[in-house]
Amino acid sequence: MSITEPAYQQCVMPGCAATFALDDVIFRCRQCGALLDVRYDWNRVEVPSSLRAFDTRSTAVGHDPESRANASGVWRFRELLPFAPLEDLVTIGEGKTVLQQADQLAAQIGVDAGRLHLQYEGLNPSGSFKDNGMAAAFTQARRLDRRRVACASTGNTSASMALYAGVTTTKSGRPMEGIVFVGGGKIAYGKLAQALDYGARTVQIKGDFDDCMRLVQQSADRINLYLMNSVNPFRLEGQKTIMYRVLEGLGWEVPDWIVVPGGNLGNSSAFGKAFAELKELGLVDRIPRLAIINAVGANTLYQLFNDRGVRFDCKCKGQKAVADHYRHMAEEGITAKTVASAIEIGRPVNLSKALRSLKMMDGVVRQVSDEAILDAKALIGRYGFGCEPASAASIAGLQVLLREKTISPSDRVVCVLTGHALKDPGVTVAYHTGDRLPAAANANPPITANADIEEIVALLEG
Ligand SMILES: *Cc1c(COP(=O)(O)O)cnc(C)c1O
Ligand SMILES: [Zn+2]
Repeated sequence: MSITEPAYQQCVMPGCAATFALDDVIFRCRQCGALLDVRYDWNRVEVPSSLRAFDTRSTAVGHDPESRANASGVWRFRELLPFAPLEDLVTIGEGKTVLQQADQLAAQIGVDAGRLHLQYEGLNPSGSFKDNGMAAAFTQARRLDRRRVACASTGNTSASMALYAGVTTTKSGRPMEGIVFVGGGKIAYGKLAQALDYGARTVQIKGDFDDCMRLVQQSADRINLYLMNSVNPFRLEGQKTIMYRVLEGLGWEVPDWIVVPGGNLGNSSAFGKAFAELKELGLVDRIPRLAIINAVGANTLYQLFNDRGVRFDCKCKGQKAVADHYRHMAEEGITAKTVASAIEIGRPVNLSKALRSLKMMDGVVRQVSDEAILDAKALIGRYGFGCEPASAASIAGLQVLLREKTISPSDRVVCVLTGHALKDPGVTVAYHTGDRLPAAANANPPITANADIEEIVALLEG
């Protein structure tokens, strides 16, 4: 079809590149089945000539649409995701994150002072980066006047979607309804608590995340639910802004490395698109390198990229290798298993887009053990930026990359801390109080004492 709007959707496969209208509710290319991007005709959008133009917006106050958009860490960059008019933008003040320079942590893991930064996404309204994507996806749901939204989730997607569904009404003023598919027994309590409290209809499936993902896509087709997983390309538009805020935190300078945990690979996909577009628009002069970190027990991308040599370009070879790998997993009964539940995913839906990001950002993929994740998590917590297990994969991965000298101590590195420490307190308490032998490297077990002042003084002075 011919596209006349400045924003539209396009198949990611270079050999196909079919285009679809912005408001077509479609998550796979009708020609070839690949994922879709939201695309813009930048000649028809007013984009600032320098990123510094965004500097003045972050202190916005007021309740008119423009002030509200400026107060959102997503929508104050609206010219870089221009698919909806100002009055349609959905926001609850997501993305008010501040890039943190982490010198104490840097000293512990062997990074030079001033070179390690943490992008702490736990500060979002529902406590994870997912809110960046939901602000954008709910904006599109609102434009389409959709009432029922659904997702499959390891936890944070459902928490975030439930929150936005709770506060958003449709264009015609009706409350939205959130429907969440979670795997039986697989969800951290902090996250399940949120989905229930925010009023989502929560369906616990007797299966794992990959089952939930398949079933929610089938349900969406059958009973007209609007899908809010990261196959929804509008989600990824919102998640691009995480990178804009990283640049903002560095005075608009480009870091050397972005390190991010990899689950469904939405973030990695969004980050590559963000930088490719900034480069195309002449708003940055270079692109950082990307490191995607898998857990050993959920390492599909690691195996495909490093062991089977799958790349974005070699379409046929790549698709066969991916199919072979999934068949191998099914035959051997291999399912994802890691303490980092947010990345416990065997069949990442954004695989092709993540491969494209790895190509555009000269990226690498590494895997880290659960033990390394938990030790890194305690170290991050020790210096004040507590996070959930999946987030800590970024620091554990950085440690691997430093050891193998892929990253040098003087490189400027940004690790994305994807979710808040209080999402999964059970894992944290078990780590610090557990009876693991030898004791966990960074354990900080509580001391017990009688209710006796002399004993307590003796303990604390000792
Ligand atoms: C969703 C999530 C991830 C995985 O991100 P993807 O974009 O799916 O790779 C990692 N950490 C946390 C805390 C998450 O909620
Ligand atoms: Zn296609």
